[in-house]
Amino acid sequence: MTNGREVEMGDWREAKTLEELFEAIRDCMACPLGRTRTNLVLGSGNPEAEIMFVGEAPGFHEDRQGIPFVGPAGQFLDQLLRSIGLQRSQVYIANTLKCRPPENRDPLPEELSACTPYLFKQIEIIRPRIICTLGNHATKTLLRTASGISQLHGRLIRKGGLAYVPLFHPAAALHKPPLKTVLVEDFQRLKEHLDAERVRWAAGEEPVEETLPAASDEQPEQMGLF
Ligand code: URA
Repeated sequence: MTNGREVEMGDWREAKTLEELFEAIRDCMACPLGRTRTNLVLGSGNPEAEIMFVGEAPGFHEDRQGIPFVGPAGQFLDQLLRSIGLQRSQVYIANTLKCRPPENRDPLPEELSACTPYLFKQIEIIRPRIICTLGNHATKTLLRTASGISQLHGRLIRKGGLAYVPLFHPAAALHKPPLKTVLVEDFQRLKEHLDAERVRWAAGEEPVEETLPAASDEQPEQMGLF
């Protein structure tokens, strides 16, 4: 099944813009989620954003609308953004997986391997100053670390020439009220990190990377949100 469109996946690596990337992968069948999705959800927001947020995978509403974080977790994310003077249109929001896993189950390792090259391409196009990984999946996928979100949240971590700030997933915080307070505080820290990064970029300072405990190749079956 190809939704009636030709599948030409060969040229996505050549994409120079997010629109080109979307056109190149919108009919992706690199993993079985291509057969069950309604829409491939690439991401939304400012293609020149200073901050990029990376969640887990589209849910029911995102799959229907083709836009990330439009359900309750997205409304909370909007609220958190407003708390530091930002609007959704100023940041870029994406997910580790571009297609909805059935029943919102956790991403499978083979789905992540098929889909994360698209995420790295997005990062290459946007070149954000800070990438906020939302929850354990995005954090472990992008930072390739065994450390969980509970240990890393709110810190600025440099890896591979990029700056990451892991945060609890807004959906997790909606289910666990104590995490809500932590997430609100971490957004204040995010603002401080962004201010410091702007100064560092302006000064042309060389960043120092830190070493995190490496991930084993094995992915746990159900990683959960925290
Ligand atoms: N949760 C996510 O991780 N991503 C979405 O797009 C929506 C909810």
